[in-house]
Amino acid sequence: RIVFLNGSFLPIEEARVPFMDRGFLFGDGVYEGIGVLDGRLVDNEAHLERLERSLAEVRIPNPYSPAEWTALEEEIVRRNGMTEGFIYFQVTRGVAERDFFFPEDAKPTVAMFTQAKTIADAPAARTGIAVVTVPDLRWARRDVKSINLLAQVLAKQAAKEAGAQEAWMVEDGYVTEGGSSSAFIVTTGGSIVVRPLSQAILPGITRKSLLRLSQEDGIPLEERRFTVEEAHGAAEAFLTSASNFVLPVVSIDGRPVGEGKPGPITRRLRELYLQMARAPASL
Ligand code: PMP
Repeated sequence: RIVFLNGSFLPIEEARVPFMDRGFLFGDGVYEGIGVLDGRLVDNEAHLERLERSLAEVRIPNPYSPAEWTALEEEIVRRNGMTEGFIYFQVTRGVAERDFFFPEDAKPTVAMFTQAKTIADAPAARTGIAVVTVPDLRWARRDVKSINLLAQVLAKQAAKEAGAQEAWMVEDGYVTEGGSSSAFIVTTGGSIVVRPLSQAILPGITRKSLLRLSQEDGIPLEERRFTVEEAHGAAEAFLTSASNFVLPVVSIDGRPVGEGKPGPITRRLRELYLQMARAPASL
């Protein structure tokens, strides 16, 4: 397995990050995750725009241009012979003696790896998954894709221990988002409901594409918050993320959603998303 670290491609066993890296000591860094289907990067430009924004918000200089990032992503996919899966990369503020203030002369640490994974034919897409709701314990700038994921680690582990595959995090009675996904419901009237963008959630790239596709398909959209109670009574529910695209949610807190199986609108949206991910965006 070949990874990328600070300018070089090398076997993962040889990739070492210094002890004093601020990513390790402070979680002082941001990341991105991009889906790969048929060997193609899915929604890459939008992911690189979000990276640019995350870096600017935490004042870490972006070490590469979008064209340079894209070349690295394509190279790591090629070197690992990956046709379907996920590219992860992170940028930390670099290596310096431990001190909270920004170091004067540190260079950002850049690390990238791939994970081969079946996305298009994932069994979970046919069966749907279970989610449980948990309190959202995260910081107040969730629009920044920070590598600090302790709250999500705890939320998703709680979900696993409850027999579910994802946690939906809840603040003031309203669902914010999934531990590593955007959360959607479909009303009994057939409208998609999704929380509007704000500092309370990550601006999901898959969410953005899905909303465009659903609008083009004429599916009504209500961009507003929804409560746990409304989710329990929804006709359908689903989540979106770069590593899963669109996944049906068939139970919430142990209660079936709708008929307890993937619903027609969710299946339609997954199909539209797969078509988009497969077809070159040359139209
Ligand atoms: N919310 C959170 C908290 C996430 O970690 C992710 C996955 N990165 C998402 C939403 C989905 O975002 P995207 O569609 O860009 O993968």
